[in-house]
Amino acid sequence: MSMKIVVDWDRCEANGVCVRAAPTSFSLDEKDQLHVLAETVTPERRAQVEQAVRECPKQALSLSED
Ligand code: SF4
Repeated sequence: MSMKIVVDWDRCEANGVCVRAAPTSFSLDEKDQLHVLAETVTPERRAQVEQAVRECPKQALSLSED
């Protein structure tokens, strides 16, 4: 079973903490809008994504079962 990244867009303030923790899964564009680069969490990305979920200061990130 794979996991999917879920962003609560009402909470996200685009501070980029998740981008630093998991740069292959998240990016910020020039307008400071967050993008999820890869919604599905592969085993290789899992540790980074879990770190991003933990470190998001707005608790805007969660994982759901696909
Ligand atoms: S760490 Fe959280 S608040 Fe910051 S950009 Fe990522 S999802 Fe948004």
